Amino acid sequence: MKSSAIVQTGARKYEQQEFEVPEIGPEQGLLRIEQSGICGSDWSQYKQGFPFPVIPGHEPVGIIEQVGEIAAQRWGVGVGDRVAVETMLPCGFCRPCVRGKYNLCRASGSMIHAYGYRNVSETPTLWGGHSQFMYLDPHSLLHKVDPDLPSELAVMFNPLGAGVRWAQSLPGTGIGETVVVLGCGQRGLACVIAAREAGARVIVTGLGVDERKLELASTFGAERTVNVEKEDVVDVVREMTDGAMADVVVEVTSGATQPVIDAIELAAQGGRIVLAGMKYNKVDGFDANRVLMKEITIIGALAVDFPAYEAAIRIIESRKYPLELMHTHSISLSDADRAVRILGNEVEGEYGIHLSLVPDA
Ligand SMILES: [Zn+2]
Ligand SMILES: [Zn+2]
Repeated sequence: MKSSAIVQTGARKYEQQEFEVPEIGPEQGLLRIEQSGICGSDWSQYKQGFPFPVIPGHEPVGIIEQVGEIAAQRWGVGVGDRVAVETMLPCGFCRPCVRGKYNLCRASGSMIHAYGYRNVSETPTLWGGHSQFMYLDPHSLLHKVDPDLPSELAVMFNPLGAGVRWAQSLPGTGIGETVVVLGCGQRGLACVIAAREAGARVIVTGLGVDERKLELASTFGAERTVNVEKEDVVDVVREMTDGAMADVVVEVTSGATQPVIDAIELAAQGGRIVLAGMKYNKVDGFDANRVLMKEITIIGALAVDFPAYEAAIRIIESRKYPLELMHTHSISLSDADRAVRILGNEVEGEYGIHLSLVPDA
């Protein structure tokens, strides 16, 4: 049996290739991909390329096609089950792993021990979700997903998982707290949902071009949206909280450093800030004294963890939020290049929020 897959051979270079599907041993499995989610990391990976060929795709949902006897027992799954697969392939032995911080696994420090980032020359080749089939390594972390859920909703487990971890579990968001989400891409919108689930009131920011995303944030329960090109979010939050400011600020903008400075102003005395948006530069004008005087807790957030994925899948299965409004595109695997460029705002006339790739039948 063969699997068609997208291989990234360099910066902005995707090629569709065919590979032999590997033999599955007792501790391994094979996933038939239904949908492979695309996020900002795919966009960065696409633009930069890697010094080796990889099959991208680190947010796959699919059906267990084959599973070894030991793997079936460990994962609690059988052939035909629908599962979401976590990005990381933690080693299970390093210090972060044994302390329960497997998202910081030293083996994955280089992003090598993760789906979507391993060299295709390394057997058994099918290390990425942008493919018909994906190999399931013994270190995989799987989550069963309701088989009745439309696959384009199931595939949102990854952004939703980030929302749960960044806007709820890491900052310990509680009922009635004020949460400001800086940024309204798929992660920002997921943060709105997670903060609402935690019982918080939510304020979310975006730019003028984000109008549709901000509308969606309101649909998902944000009390107030702020176009930062027109309004000062610090003023808005001050007014809305009678000067108390935000209990939690979640920073998920990509690249810009001003939101980090804003976060310090936005945080209440004793507030928590979660930094989850990757930056290209160091933050200019960072005022350590403001952090100290306000006793702000700053939390760095890298990726998602098992409990957050579980909670995210339960939220999706609850069908409480019209997530279909966030999923703008399911695109054929053969058109992977276009899909990633839509996410990167490079395709005229297209507006992408959450996108995924679907293998041809
Ligand atoms: Zn991702
Ligand atoms: Zn480890």
